[in-house]
Amino acid sequence: MDLRLPDQKVLTHEDGVTGFDVAKSIGPGLARAAIAVKVNGEQRDLSRPIEEDGDFEVITLDKPDGLHILRHSTAHVMAQAVLDLYPSSTFAVGPPIEDGFYYDFEVEEPFTPEDLEKIESRMAEIIAEDQPFKRVSMSRAEAIDVFSDHKFKVEIIENVDPGEVSGGEEVTAYRNDGFIDLCRGPHLPSTGRIPAFKVLRSSGAYWRGDQQREQLQRIYGTAWASEADLEEYLHRLEEAEKRDHRRLGAELDLYSFPQDLGSGLAVWHPKGGMLRKLVEDHSRRLHERFGFDFVFSPHIGKEELWQTSGHLEFYAENMYPTMQYEGDPGYRVKPMNCPFHVLVYQSRQRSYRELPMRLGELGGVYRYEQSGVIHGILRARGFTQDDSHTFCTGDQIQDELRLHLDFVLTWLRDFGFEQFEAELSTRPEQAIVDEEHRWDVAEKALAGALEAHGVTYQVAPGEGAFYGPKIDVHIKDAIGRRWQCSTIQLDVNTPRRFELEYIDSTNSPEVPYMIHCAKAGSLERFMGILVEHYAGAFPMWLAPVQISIIPVADRHDEYAGHVRERLRDAGLRVEVDLSTETVGDKIRRALTQKHPAVIVVGDDDVENSTVGLRLYGEEKDTRGVPLVEATNSLLHMARGPA
Ligand SMILES: [Zn+2]
Ligand SMILES: [Zn+2]
Repeated sequence: MDLRLPDQKVLTHEDGVTGFDVAKSIGPGLARAAIAVKVNGEQRDLSRPIEEDGDFEVITLDKPDGLHILRHSTAHVMAQAVLDLYPSSTFAVGPPIEDGFYYDFEVEEPFTPEDLEKIESRMAEIIAEDQPFKRVSMSRAEAIDVFSDHKFKVEIIENVDPGEVSGGEEVTAYRNDGFIDLCRGPHLPSTGRIPAFKVLRSSGAYWRGDQQREQLQRIYGTAWASEADLEEYLHRLEEAEKRDHRRLGAELDLYSFPQDLGSGLAVWHPKGGMLRKLVEDHSRRLHERFGFDFVFSPHIGKEELWQTSGHLEFYAENMYPTMQYEGDPGYRVKPMNCPFHVLVYQSRQRSYRELPMRLGELGGVYRYEQSGVIHGILRARGFTQDDSHTFCTGDQIQDELRLHLDFVLTWLRDFGFEQFEAELSTRPEQAIVDEEHRWDVAEKALAGALEAHGVTYQVAPGEGAFYGPKIDVHIKDAIGRRWQCSTIQLDVNTPRRFELEYIDSTNSPEVPYMIHCAKAGSLERFMGILVEHYAGAFPMWLAPVQISIIPVADRHDEYAGHVRERLRDAGLRVEVDLSTETVGDKIRRALTQKHPAVIVVGDDDVENSTVGLRLYGEEKDTRGVPLVEATNSLLHMARGPA
């Protein structure tokens, strides 16, 4: 039997050799590090005999596949610990997730922090016992018998969802010590192979994510290849907590989420309003620079419009219900701006000479989000898309996509993001496939644009929108988190649905292509990301207040007012702190507000037309800076992207 390694070397082994033996034949170090193997793309336990030729790869904990298996195995150990400690509880499902895993349980009382500590200690014992994980395979009837005390497991087996069990009549499970869980595997060889883990927190959840079903308790945990990796991750979590945009939004007085307003809806305070204005101004500036025209559209539209666009067919669960007065057609509040821009295009006959036509709008949209997923302004029910729709000919697609990608990357760089990764999502199964050829053209064109810009990307097969393939651009923030922001979608369907056309150079009607593009995605979400990325200390061009002026005593108030006027006239955003607190307290407050610059004025300054200047992040101020000089250097620092 021949096994081909990733470096193309071929190893010959007897049929039925285990993954572990193959790893050992490559080297003892690899055998020690191995936790599972991949045969022809399928992950398998180390101890499972291999019976076919093909590609072979050893999985270790330094690979994403390895971490996935580690976290999955640790989830079993967590369930085992919970069932040990709370005999009346039962378990539902527990998948690995990014950077960790969770497991859902039905318990009498929600878990307390003390419970979580106990669970963590019990898990440590199970790991210390180094219990081997054993794969067992049984019939459905047997499995229902084995899991008869656990209703969720029985429900899974009865539904035979091929995603959760091996499919068909055979069910696989993994056993370690007295614990058994339904599972496709693979697993670590034993519990002792978990190098580092931590139980993080618990929250409520519903069985099958369905609010009509049982209320469960979800425990989140994480597992890593080493203690050092775990420490680093916990540190990252702590950083993220400090940067939480909801907390900073309150501290910096940017926005709030009043309960009287409703879940997933924010009001923006004056400082947040200024931040918005700055971000929106830049958006408009770039739209103009890249040749977009502005259009405006209302927040509601006739139901029929959403029928034609396909939203009611494919997107209804995210849309708010119909509003209707008797005798009137029903209306829907818009979840997207697309149909409105289509109507602008459709307002008269179009010639190929008018294309490409790029229409942009900062359009407010409303989407119904489950209350469980709402997260400040990062995931809200009402937000503004920096949306655009470009109508073009087939010949123009390639150039247009490049221009859109250029726009998107310029936008992201202007806000200080430098690391990008893209995802190219292709035709989903539920796609409207009357346009196979156009899908192919579209997918190739998107890949071409990414390559032209040298952006690395991964293909996500089947993840495209129902009307066309798309590019999503992800950014990395200051603490290494990835955020999906921009999206460019090539639409092969909407123009047909709305029967759009243009008259081509031979005087015959043609169907245009359409490109949907959001550069920030949701502007509010983008601002939330900026708050977290900069931890509230915005670059000066984005800071709602750029400079606070602090008079040492009230006899300096007048001079402080004079300095403010000078700076304001120069175009800077300035605040004077006239409170009666001590200078030290005022400086401390300006620092917690993360104002980019603090100016302190006292007797000497009044006399010599100078200021004391302290920039954010500096330990102390520079005394006696001539006001003219301070103004010039602050102006220089406040310059934004062109
Ligand atoms: Zn498992
Ligand atoms: Zn659109």
